[in-house]
Amino acid sequence: MTNAAQNMDKKQIELIGDNHISSNIETPLLPNAFDKSDDEKIKNIELYFGKIMTELGLDLTDDSLSGTPYRVAKMYVKELFYGLAPKNKPKLSIFENKYGYKKMLVEQNITIDSACEHHFLPITGHAHIAYIPKDKVIGLSKINRLVDYYAHRPQVQERLSLQILKNLQNVLKTDDVIVMICAKHLCVSSRGIKDKDSYTTTLEYGGSFSDKLNRDEFINIINNQTP
Ligand SMILES: [Zn+2]
Repeated sequence: MTNAAQNMDKKQIELIGDNHISSNIETPLLPNAFDKSDDEKIKNIELYFGKIMTELGLDLTDDSLSGTPYRVAKMYVKELFYGLAPKNKPKLSIFENKYGYKKMLVEQNITIDSACEHHFLPITGHAHIAYIPKDKVIGLSKINRLVDYYAHRPQVQERLSLQILKNLQNVLKTDDVIVMICAKHLCVSSRGIKDKDSYTTTLEYGGSFSDKLNRDEFINIINNQTP
């Protein structure tokens, strides 16, 4: 932890959590983030999470609780936060745009399963993504895999949108990409304000999507929910 983080008082910490502030498109990682193997991380997190449970007063010798620290540790490293590790980044198959398709391609209703980095509570919803191909096209399911990868790390919805956008713009060699995410944050619905109905929409785009006509066409397609 940096000195700045240590010095941050509790009020400021709660303020950042509730405002969902994030300052950078990159997920803040330590330089040695991946020096340890997954197994070592699971072993350590198991120990630490057991301590949290004990501190809460739970009896870890109880049959029902004894396996929880290991289950949580494994779930963090292998499932919920697998997208932190660059080794898990999906290989994106890119093809030449041989058929010369030059109009909008929309991939919609992509499941978002993420967690907010301020409270470690679920963020769930959908991403809708479109691009206008130049020379390259991408295998459709690769868009879903890329979303899944970036979602599976402690996140802020704004940063998640930008990470997906920038990555697609890089691999597709075009700025003409739009990313919309609509998601519910459990940290808003189950604690704090406890609003069960509100959800958050983010819309990030570049290139031709700065043109309102293209954005409207995209949003029309999203609103016409077929099939
Ligand atoms: Zn939160």
